[in-house]
Amino acid sequence: MILSEVQDLATVVGTTAVPAEADIVVIGAGFGGMYAHHRFRQLGMSVFGFEQGTDVGGTWYWNRYPGARCDVESVDYCYTFSRELLDEWQWTERFARQDEILRYANFVAEKFDLKRDIKFQSKITAARYDEGRNRWTVETDKGESISCKYLVTTVGCLSVPKDPDFKGLEDFKGQWIQTGAWPKENVNWDGKNVAVIGTGSSAIQSIPEIAKTAKQLTVFQRTANYSVPAYNGPLPEERRKEVFEDYPAYLDKLKRSRSGQIFELSTDRTAADFTEAERNDRMEHAWKLGRWNLQSCFRDTTLNQNANDIAANFVHAKIRETVNDPNVAEKLIPKGYPFGTKRLCLDTDYFATFNRDTVELVDIKTEPIERITATGIQTSAGEYPVDLIVFAIGFDAVTGPIVNLGIEGRGGVSLSEAWADGPISYLGLAIPGFPNLFTVNGPSSPSVLANMILTLEQHVDWIADCINAMNQQGINIIETDESAAADWAEHTRTVANQTLFPKANSWYMGANVPGKPSMFLAYIGGFDNYIARCDHIAANGYAGFSLSKSKVGAEA
Ligand code: NAP
Repeated sequence: MILSEVQDLATVVGTTAVPAEADIVVIGAGFGGMYAHHRFRQLGMSVFGFEQGTDVGGTWYWNRYPGARCDVESVDYCYTFSRELLDEWQWTERFARQDEILRYANFVAEKFDLKRDIKFQSKITAARYDEGRNRWTVETDKGESISCKYLVTTVGCLSVPKDPDFKGLEDFKGQWIQTGAWPKENVNWDGKNVAVIGTGSSAIQSIPEIAKTAKQLTVFQRTANYSVPAYNGPLPEERRKEVFEDYPAYLDKLKRSRSGQIFELSTDRTAADFTEAERNDRMEHAWKLGRWNLQSCFRDTTLNQNANDIAANFVHAKIRETVNDPNVAEKLIPKGYPFGTKRLCLDTDYFATFNRDTVELVDIKTEPIERITATGIQTSAGEYPVDLIVFAIGFDAVTGPIVNLGIEGRGGVSLSEAWADGPISYLGLAIPGFPNLFTVNGPSSPSVLANMILTLEQHVDWIADCINAMNQQGINIIETDESAAADWAEHTRTVANQTLFPKANSWYMGANVPGKPSMFLAYIGGFDNYIARCDHIAANGYAGFSLSKSKVGAEA
């Protein structure tokens, strides 16, 4: 099902009129967009926003598939900017479910009156920078248009699901859906033959849930994935206290961490610094703690192949212990890329689900899908009858959501042209040739490698402070220098190349979208270092940016 069809199923909320002008236009009403509205309003400037969905929530609005929940602990995956908000909202589970996070988004939106200046169900089709007027003109699929001084994209990193391009899909008589655009209603798999294509995080979360009531579930796997148990459950009171009793101190620790999360077993010692017995104890402990402790229990797990092999073999053994049929276990064991270099999944009973009589695993590397038929999926070995196909095949990550906006900067150069060889961005915040455009969680920022709520708050705060400083100095054009962006891209590449991450054909590398330039899309140098770098740049008169005054464009 394509996004527009999902929207048709949804309820229309509000019909906010689009003004002709605003100081700042914010694209997207997920967690980044919501905070942007709140924060930018404090500048005393007019803010208007657009959102493709019918309501706030972003990722948590679209990804309603069964089992969807956050892989960052709920006490960490929440806004930090308001103590009152932190006190008022009580998370129920250690890892919050999609519907609880969506309720939280709505709670925040109501509390801070964030929906009033957002036009929902409007998809941006073009955004052009007019050099003569020093203003952006933004257009939507509803024929709306608005002019603004600053354009801020808060479109998320995983918001453009890949369309399934399987031969014969148009002949299929059953229902098919995408995890990343799951409809609000009309999905029922009870007693049905279901196929899930893909075995990334979305599939790994949904497969155990679908298997509970499907008549037969067939999982079509191209690449086996690493996953560790989430150990989800009610949020323990001690954990709540640990975080919230002295929240400023806790938040400070999060901001001084590599990923905006604290892992109990994080260490400065390498795998080789421990004896074999110590390593095994540590990994067992990490396995029982869950989250990304297994990735963090040696400093060099994703830096050194030997250390990586130790962690990988540990997970392989766990899969063999869990899965009854040794042939199925071997198929489920990830091979050909280092542990942790595709995003490590957190699951509830994923591997054990393959012990059910009603669940079958098809390895499509040895048995490729040839086509979808009217009634099922045809592989080189035969046809699997299917009533419902779930495509969990991932996203055009990080760059896709921004490029899709149809942005044109100086000289009418489109972003897709500017990024034809890969995204060039200063700090993931600004792009040379695109003045007064800010991208929240853009490419080459920590984004998907860190706790996204912390990263988006940091970006929005940095942008707000920057615009405030410009206002105070009567400056109305900010544009990053090509050399600063090129240097940052080089630095981003250098730190990524010091790790094992480029060895995997992952979406981090753009490898999941045919034709996409191969480039590590996030900054892996650490959230802590990144914050320090951004602060240093601001304190030094926005080094790497050109700031100027234009006679035009200052009026609105
Ligand atoms: P994904 O990690 O990109 O996984 C897509 C899966 O589909 C992979 O197994 C991929 O195989 C397979 N695939 C892609 N195209 C295919 C094709 N044409 N034929 C057969 N198989 C195909 O996507 P995702 O599972 O949606 O997850 C994306 C990211 O979203 C995650 O890494 C995570 O960052 C985020 N996420 C987070 C959560 C959470 O917080 N808990 C949950 C879900 C998602 P290959 O590996 O061979 O390409």
